This record gives sequence, C-alpha cells and structure tokens, in this order.
Amino acid sequence: MLYLSTRGHPDRKHFCDILLEGLAPDGGLYLPEHYPQIDDAALTRLRKAYQSQGYAELAFQILSLYIDDIPAADLKALCAKTYTAEVFGTGEIVPLRHLEDGLWLEALSNGPTLAFKDIAMQLLGNLFEYELKRRGEELNILGATSGDTGSAAEYAMRGKEGVRVFMTSPHGRMSAFQQAQMFSLQDENIHNIAIEGVFDDCQDIVKAVSNDLNFKRQYKIGTVNSINWARLLAQVVYYFAGYIQATETNDQKVSFTVPSGNFGNICAGHVARCMGLPIARLVVATNENDVLDEFFRTGVYRVRGSADTHETSSPSMDISKASNFERFIFDLLGRNGQRTKALFSAALQTYGRFDLSADPLFADAAAKYGFESGRSTHADRLATIKDTYHRFGVTIDTHTADGVKVAREHRGDPAVPMIVLETALPIKFAETIQEALGHAPERPARFAGIEALPKRVQVMPADVERVKAYIERHCQ
Ligand SMILES: *Cc1c(COP(=O)(O)O)cnc(C)c1O
Repeated sequence: MLYLSTRGHPDRKHFCDILLEGLAPDGGLYLPEHYPQIDDAALTRLRKAYQSQGYAELAFQILSLYIDDIPAADLKALCAKTYTAEVFGTGEIVPLRHLEDGLWLEALSNGPTLAFKDIAMQLLGNLFEYELKRRGEELNILGATSGDTGSAAEYAMRGKEGVRVFMTSPHGRMSAFQQAQMFSLQDENIHNIAIEGVFDDCQDIVKAVSNDLNFKRQYKIGTVNSINWARLLAQVVYYFAGYIQATETNDQKVSFTVPSGNFGNICAGHVARCMGLPIARLVVATNENDVLDEFFRTGVYRVRGSADTHETSSPSMDISKASNFERFIFDLLGRNGQRTKALFSAALQTYGRFDLSADPLFADAAAKYGFESGRSTHADRLATIKDTYHRFGVTIDTHTADGVKVAREHRGDPAVPMIVLETALPIKFAETIQEALGHAPERPARFAGIEALPKRVQVMPADVERVKAYIERHCQ
C-alpha cells in the first residue's frame, strides 16, 4: 500500500515514512492510493476475529491492509501491547451501551486520559517507539494543547525510548483536572511548558519553532496532531467494532453520529464506509462552532476568524477550521489533486472560503457518502445531559451530549441502529455537569485526589527563544 498527497504531488510513500511526518511536501494530507475493500466473507472474518480474539486482533487485521513495511508478527505484537483491558478498562475496549430504542453509545473514553484520543494515541506511542528504534533515531514532539490532545500525547509517549514530549499549554487556563492529569506526570521524557498567554500564543510558538528549519532538523522536532494518518487509521478500527457489536449479520446497516471538531474522528468513519463497512449515514455533530454543519447544509466552507470562534462548554470542538476536512473533499472531488489544491491553498488563502453549492458533486456528500449534519448549543447540552441522566441514569460529557442531541434529530429508519461515539468522560468537564445536574460527575477511582499530586511544569513567557533554549537544554 502506497500513500499519496491530496494536492497531487507525484511522490508515493510507504506507511512508516509518513508515520513520522506531518504534511506532504506540497502541503497536502496523506491518504492511501485506494481503500482496501471488505466483502461479505472478509467482514465475517473480522466479526469472528473481534468476537473470539478481541479488539487487538481486529485492529491487527485492519491495520495489515494499510501497512506493508512492518513485519506481521511485529504489528500483531504492537496491537496486542496497545489494546489491553488493563489500559482501556474493558475486554471489548470500546463497549456499546444501549440508551433508548435504536440509539446506542459507543464508549471510547476509558483509556488513560478519559477521551477517545487515547485509542489512536496509545497505538501511535508504540508505533513511534518501534520505528525510531528500527531507524536508530530520536524524535522531540512539540505541541500546543488546551486539554485533550496534549494529555493523550503525554500518556502515550511517557517512558517511550527515543521520544521526548514538549507540550505547551496556556498557563492557568485549563481545568484543574486537566492540569493535574498532565502536570502530575513525573516521567523524564515529558516536559510541560505553561505559557503566559492564550492557546493561540502556544500555537504560534509551535509554528515559529517548526518554521526554523535548521532548529527543526538539528533537534528532530516532530508533531502528533490530528492530521497524522496513523491516528486516523487507528480510529477506523472502532467503527468496525461498533458495527460488529450492534449487528448479527452483515446485511444489517448502522449509522454513526460523531461529535466533531477537526474532522479526524468522522473522517475515520468515512474511510470505514469507503472500505465497504455497511454504514447508512455518518452524521456530523458540531457545537456553536458550526463550520462543518454549515458546509453540509449549504456547500459553503467558510473558515472562521478568531473573533468568530466561540469558547464553548464542549471546548475540544471549538475550531475555526477543520484540519482533516481536506481528506474528505479530495474524495468528494473524485480524488482530483489539482482541484483540491486550488480550493485549499488558493481559495481558502485568498477568500477564507470556497463554495461547492452549485457543483453536482456536492449532492454526493449525502447521496454517495452518507453525510448529514446538525448543531448543538450550550442550552442543548445542558438539556441533553439532564434528560439522559434522568431517563437512563447515564451521565454523558458535554461533547457526547452534542452528539446525542444531533443523533436524535437524525434517527431516520428505525431498523438502523444509530451509534453515538462517546468522546470523553464527564469528569473532564465537571463544571458543566454540575450546572446541568446540580451535582459533580463520578470520578474514576484511579483519579482520586490527583489535584494534590506534585506538579512538574515550567512556566514561561510567550517567547519563542525561551522555548527553544528550554528544548536545547533538555535534549542533551
Ligand atoms: C478531539 C475531540 C473531539 C473532536 O474530534 P475531531 O477528531 O477533532 O473531530 C470531540 N470531543 C472530544 C472530547 C475531543 O477530545
């Protein structure tokens, strides 16, 4: 299997080459040259693999279709090491929970940091360690986080050989729980840098460091952001696991509703559907930052400015543009790299928007690719959290609440189960749960009292040179 760029660059690469890279050389995103097809017999084999050998075996079989430069026995061992009941809380790894007639929750948030990003990031940690060792190389991951991504990356990379993490975050702006999760890590290779500024300052620092090509090369700076293909691939597996749990035979279909920000999670659903997994519809749920809902309703993709980007109670979906969206548009345009490049590098740069409303291909977003969308607000989240708690005794987090709200509006055929992806546990967003229910959410026992643990963090002004000097000092 070879990988190409969504912007038409002629190079083709193997999996392990793009594993450690970010964007393609022309600024595009990597995708496989084609999606391997799962026919009825193959789906039956995957069903049996998950049911009798577990999630790690399912992951191994799906990943094998996309990775031809890691020996099978090694890949199998990496999957087995990643997807354990010990790390993810249950043998199913992503169990389904029934809510009401035809509506299910797929639990993706029982990993080390209580958000779905762990599922891909834990695998990425093991893949990075494996590949760096094989090459005799090192990598210094530099990132910016306002919460979920940074902690998932740190818990995935802690103690890994050949990898250091330098994670910037806005000083004093994350919740006490999120700060405690990250700053209580005592591993030598994990560095928390609290920047006196806002999240955008952190992102600007990461960009400035990455744009210094000499520094980047000398200190082997890399990233783990959501455009990484390996993360997306790891997420494809739980669409299969959700489908298999919700159905008994392969002639049944299911639909998914996905709380969306950067379009990474639901893009994995798109890949699964293109592989032939019987998915009826893929419903994009956004919060007040409705860039994606607007596109699927109108055909207009309009990037928001920072004044137009709202701080909401589902903060991991507060995006101004959706960094993985280019992958779907490339497929929608019949994999036309030149047109994709014109939209994402020319039109977006110049006008901040593009308009496909008059293009017959836009109709395919729903008809051929199954996409629908909806939007939710703070008031909707509170009402949905309350309703779900009182009717089913289940407390859901704010992002999942956006999903449940939108899923109810898109139920469609009652014979087709609707699966909402649960993207975080409520304890991470305790303030809003308190507001909705009048009491704090349950805290998993292993997180009791983490706010009181010693913290390992360096506070710094928003100054690129200071951050570079810190990295230099800690790369000896
Ligand atoms: C990252 C995140 C999302 C958004 O996922 P995308 O892949 O960016 O669409 C939704 N909910 C939670 C809790 C997250 O951490």
